Amino acid sequence: MTSIERVAVIGAGTMGHGIAQVCVMAGLHVHLYDPQPGQVESAVGRVRANLERGVERGKVSPELRNMALSRLRQSEALHESARDADLVIEAVPERIDLKTEIFQELDRHAPASALLASNTSSLSISRIAGATATPERVVGLHFFNPVHIMKLLEVVRGRATSQPTLDSCLAFAERIGKEPVVVADTPGFASSRLGIVLGLEAMRMVEQEVASPADIDRAMELGYNHPMGPLRLTDLVGLDVRLGIAEYLHDELGGEQYRAPEILRRMVADGKLGKKSGQGFYRWDEA
Ligand code: NAD
Repeated sequence: MTSIERVAVIGAGTMGHGIAQVCVMAGLHVHLYDPQPGQVESAVGRVRANLERGVERGKVSPELRNMALSRLRQSEALHESARDADLVIEAVPERIDLKTEIFQELDRHAPASALLASNTSSLSISRIAGATATPERVVGLHFFNPVHIMKLLEVVRGRATSQPTLDSCLAFAERIGKEPVVVADTPGFASSRLGIVLGLEAMRMVEQEVASPADIDRAMELGYNHPMGPLRLTDLVGLDVRLGIAEYLHDELGGEQYRAPEILRRMVADGKLGKKSGQGFYRWDEA
């Protein structure tokens, strides 16, 4: 088993900054890398702001905040972030070409003992692993948004993922305070495959004017005890991210339930991506 003390996080967006936060809060050292200018700085700012809010609410001690921030480092290049990592977690956009390219590079630059994980929501871990010469150390670590709040961690076992890799990931999950479930490498794993169907059907209901987005969400929150309705959740995840997952699952599994509704395509084309763009099924710029 690999003892994990140093983590490299590749991609400092919605998920990357959250993954970095939970790791440093658990006392791990994190190197964060993103090629987009200013993105790592902005991610560090988001982690700092989350921790400050935690301190204000009495949930995080000032000592823990300081310790966590001191363990978060910015990297200028992918090879620099990976070179002394025990675990690399990739959280770049959901594109197979991009992910396989990054894993090829990680395979060259990370230590031979390092585990290589993808936070993909739906892509095949075995396919990503196939881009490397060491697929036994490649695994899926599927975090949920917002990472510092959501307890679930789907640990995805690719065809070649070794038992020691899996065991190390389960120990890592415990260390960072997450509840792991182990899932076979099938399209959409357990959570996305089921969750996307609910989200897409809710969008079709908006299209057909069955009810307003707020009322559709309220129906699931009050009628089914879901903590958050499927449209608000879509806004938080990102409409572009959900469109990508729907297209992938439709290609792979073929069911009509995975076909992306027109409203989703139109909103993504119009730049209505949810919370991150200020507008999705709800307005977020006034919130
Ligand atoms: P995002 O767009 O918020 O962030 C992606 C980041 O990757 C951006 O900052 C971008 O600059 C960076 N990036 C682009 N090319 C890169 C490269 N070559 N090297 C390093 N960084 C690069 O996306 P996100 O929502 O954080 O999603 C990231 C991954 O996590 C996706 O695979 C997605 O499916 C998965 N995921 C997302 C959610 C969610 O709720 N958003 C939940 C679970 C899993």
